[in-house]
Amino acid sequence: MRVTFLGTGTSGGVPIIGCDCAVCRSADPRDRRLRPSILIDLEGDRNRVPSASPIADAVRFVLVDTSTDLRAQALAHDVRRVDAILFTHSHADHVLGLDDVRRFNRLQKEAIPCYSDARTRADLRRTFSYIFDEDTPKAGGIPKIVLNEIIGPFSLGAADIIPVPIMHGSRPILGFRIGSFAYLTDCSTIPDSSWPLLHGVRTLVLDALRERPHSTHFSVPEAIKAAARIGAERTYFTHISHELGHAETCARLPRGVELAYDGLVLEIEN
Ligand SMILES: [Zn+2]
Ligand SMILES: [Zn+2]
Ligand SMILES: [Zn+2]
Repeated sequence: MRVTFLGTGTSGGVPIIGCDCAVCRSADPRDRRLRPSILIDLEGDRNRVPSASPIADAVRFVLVDTSTDLRAQALAHDVRRVDAILFTHSHADHVLGLDDVRRFNRLQKEAIPCYSDARTRADLRRTFSYIFDEDTPKAGGIPKIVLNEIIGPFSLGAADIIPVPIMHGSRPILGFRIGSFAYLTDCSTIPDSSWPLLHGVRTLVLDALRERPHSTHFSVPEAIKAAARIGAERTYFTHISHELGHAETCARLPRGVELAYDGLVLEIEN
């Protein structure tokens, strides 16, 4: 499969509004970060012989979170289809692009299934009440989505999705594992019960906000420690603030660990 980083920035994006720091003013495109999201192409290998199962082929593009920047991200990476959406949690930077899903409804002529934990499902119903309000006029003005609650591992097409409970400050949220790949954004602690779920992960994406400690995100030293314990062959940090410049941070990270950047594409063998 193939993973594209649509956004690798923290909630305010990078550059942030009204900042003249070196990273916000950097000419390196890897220092420009939209709000955090990835697109997973479950059939990354286009030369693959089509599966015998039409159900398996029906789900190909899985979006993780609908970031505030979804429209810009879809245009930048020519995203034309979204077959399913996984939500990590309901903070604004991860959900506020949900209205842009209307375009995919139009292109695909179908509702899009969404998957989240119970709290995020309830938050989405409240934040986007117009989607679920019976009285909202239905003339193409609202996203067509189906909210499914994640209660354990489940399948999307040919892929097995394993929810990985993580702590985001005091709030439990979800990371996701698919095969040898895991995506853990907005993480400040990995609970004891979730470490076994990460056994054998070879490509890891992990939250690393900044150098200094933070109450709801791993700092770089904390993320390095967690990455070492998971032991993936390659680890990419995401949800990055303007305090970390791409080039100078990557230069001092351990071997096999680097900062992700918007537009980075990972090819993953399962
Ligand atoms: Zn976030
Ligand atoms: Zn700045
Ligand atoms: Zn968050």
